[in-house]
Amino acid sequence: SFNFCSGPAALPEAVLKKAQAELLNWHGAGVSVMEMSHRSSEFTSILESAKARLTRLLDIPDNYEILFVQGGASTLFAQIPANFVTDHKTVCYLDTGAWSAKAIKEAKKYADVIVSGSTKEQNYTTVPSWEELNLDPNAAYLHITPNETIGGLEFDDLPETDLPIIADLSSTILSRSIDVSKYGMIYAGAQKNVGPAGVVICIVRKDLLERSDNEALPSTWSFANLAKNNSMINTPPTFAIYLADLVFEWLEALGGVEAIEKVNEQKAARLYKAIDGSKLYSNPIDVAYRSRMNVPFVLADESLEQTFLAESEAAGLRTLAGHRSVGGMRASIYNAMPVEGVEALIEFMRDFESRYGA
Ligand code: PLP
Repeated sequence: SFNFCSGPAALPEAVLKKAQAELLNWHGAGVSVMEMSHRSSEFTSILESAKARLTRLLDIPDNYEILFVQGGASTLFAQIPANFVTDHKTVCYLDTGAWSAKAIKEAKKYADVIVSGSTKEQNYTTVPSWEELNLDPNAAYLHITPNETIGGLEFDDLPETDLPIIADLSSTILSRSIDVSKYGMIYAGAQKNVGPAGVVICIVRKDLLERSDNEALPSTWSFANLAKNNSMINTPPTFAIYLADLVFEWLEALGGVEAIEKVNEQKAARLYKAIDGSKLYSNPIDVAYRSRMNVPFVLADESLEQTFLAESEAAGLRTLAGHRSVGGMRASIYNAMPVEGVEALIEFMRDFESRYGA
């Protein structure tokens, strides 16, 4: 079967098998990674390996720090303004979908938020014009959500600005090449393209960390403090970090981000082509900004939705329901989804249309 869940999402089978083989006795240590001290040389080697692999995969420059943070990306929504507003009053946000909106809501608790551009009135089907953004040159940063997991909107080009750009890449990290040096900070919940839930991958420019060296912040919230302690102020989510390392290893063996990006492009292109070529299915997003990772679609006859979901599930195509806030269908096709999974879905959709379509 194929699992189209938006997260926690399918992990590469090879990674799960390796984890299974090492589950009770990691590299002859006699214990599972779950049972090891996070201060042990064994676990430290896992953490360092994960950092080294991620650095190679994303070509992360020396002036960035990798942090493993807990609390989910949703906690970062509050933690980011709490860390960075110290000597700035305002922060800028782009509002391009449900996850941007949640980030804005949390940021308002810590800072004066300027919504620099919003496509809410267009139902988040496109992105704001970069030329018309309302950017405060004195703001602490500009926050963006380059892949909106619920709406299925993705953008690659960054706004022109001198503000540090902070990007929530939860559902797109490692799926396409990025130039890390263009960002002040990148963060991503692991449970889509990286590993199991429980850890957020953060990549922060070192000069920004100075701002968060602030005694007023809770110790576990301060990015500067996390950096000083190699993400081990307290017990980190050790097993999640271990699995992330295995996923990074898998990705390196495949040829890295550039290699998987080609596969991801192909998978998405085929699925959107099938949707556009049908009378039953449609996707509302501006073609230039359709997500390669999350592909939502609706049925022309809504009354067929439950039948579609029941039959697809029975055919081994799992978790195709759209987010509870929007309904419809959504196929999440992250790195671990093989081309065959997308082909099986397209085949099922064609067959379904031939039986139920007008
Ligand atoms: N940001 C984006 C883009 C997401 O897709 C999600 C989860 O789906 C989150 C943030 C929230 O992540 P978490 O559940 O880890 O808080």
